Amino acid sequence: MAIALVATIASLALETWGSPQSTLALSLLVVVILIGAGIGLWRARVVEMTGMPELIALLHSFVGLAAVLVGWNGALDSSHVPDNFVDIHHGEVFIGVFIGAVTFTGSIVAYLKLSARISSRPLMLPGKNFLNVGALVAFVGLTAWYVVVPDIWLLVAVTVLALLLGWHLVASIGGGDMPVVVSMLNSYSGWAAAAAGFLLNNNLLIVTGALVGSSGAYLSYIMCRAMNRSFISVIAGGFGIEKPASSDDEEVGEIQEIDAASVAEMLSSANSVIITPGYGMAVAQAQYPVAELTQQLIAKGVTVRFGIHPVAGRLPGHMNVLLAEAKVPYDIVLEMDEVNDDFSSTDVVLVVGANDTCNPAAAEDPGSPIAGMPVLHVWESSKVIVFKRSMSSGYAGVQNPLFFRENAFMLFGDAKERVEDIIKAL
Ligand code: NDP
Repeated sequence: MAIALVATIASLALETWGSPQSTLALSLLVVVILIGAGIGLWRARVVEMTGMPELIALLHSFVGLAAVLVGWNGALDSSHVPDNFVDIHHGEVFIGVFIGAVTFTGSIVAYLKLSARISSRPLMLPGKNFLNVGALVAFVGLTAWYVVVPDIWLLVAVTVLALLLGWHLVASIGGGDMPVVVSMLNSYSGWAAAAAGFLLNNNLLIVTGALVGSSGAYLSYIMCRAMNRSFISVIAGGFGIEKPASSDDEEVGEIQEIDAASVAEMLSSANSVIITPGYGMAVAQAQYPVAELTQQLIAKGVTVRFGIHPVAGRLPGHMNVLLAEAKVPYDIVLEMDEVNDDFSSTDVVLVVGANDTCNPAAAEDPGSPIAGMPVLHVWESSKVIVFKRSMSSGYAGVQNPLFFRENAFMLFGDAKERVEDIIKAL
């Protein structure tokens, strides 16, 4: 980006050298870059680890907006386009504006969902697949029309259509699939940049945009495979999923509460313990007491390991970073696939602020919105202690039957405070 900015300033300086507007244009450019860079630096420095995905989503929206503005600029000023390229230019304008606008509103909705400003549940408009496919067909028709008759109102129509489609595509995707959506929007932002590159006749932008676009698409594909999701369904806004998100916060039995002293007793007499952290550990910043508890248990001769779900927390690798921060040794931090067969021979599992990633409904209830997503099989162990503040659902907005199992005990409160209480009791 630094090279691109320097090249942009230098090329403007060379083009306008000696003209009366040169100094004004250059000073305006430098001021704008300084303001933008200042805001970017400030946001990136103050953002919390848990706020990272929403910041990334917001940054993707800027790429989309830039592509829309470049497209509109290309439509309003096409004087430099040679006559025999005018039709292609019109097509480029339409494609650039369309991809950019879908990326823009899609990323804004992702930002709102990730920052919990709107519900993470999927929006289920009647005939939603028909709406998405209809919007795509209308886009193709409008593009052909615009190439023949470049009326500015057609561009207004496609801009509005794409803004609505972007909003609808991401709003229709449930919370459990948001990690894939973030990488998918990353891919869209790459294609939006590549489209802007064609309009600006800028090879660097085309190449870098295509790199981001294709690597983002491949990452989305890998994540879909890891989470047992249909790639096409996710990129097409939950295509094929017509069922409303089920049942939600409804309680499905009795829970058993436990206090920190009883958990300390249980841990003291255990031989093996697995800790499965989730987003709540990040919120509570409980990784430091969790690391201390781990040390104490190991010193007592208990085998302690961590089981990390690939999408625990709010960004890939989130839990690994937190545990490394608290100096938990790497060799006891295991991936989900490495630990999933061991739960049945484990005495106690501590579910520290995790919810969706340990939800048995994903493995056992084909009607659940997260059905098929691989999860940590914590319920197979002898006893499960769940650290959370209330009975509210996880990010996907789905009730967790784990809490009502006979071998599950709820330890309510802030995860950091409760782990500290256990350490005191030990
Ligand atoms: P969840 O988001 O499903 O649940 C977190 C739990 O932590 C909640 O049930 C909450 O319950 C509890 N909690 C919150 N604050 C505290 C606190 N201070 N003390 C104790 N408990 C707390 O977490 P998971 O990590 O299991 O799952 C991650 C979810 O996020 C998945 O659905 C995933 O798809 C999604 N996601 C993941 C991304 C990634 O790349 N990793 C990106 C975007 C989304 P309560 O409020 O009752 O305390």
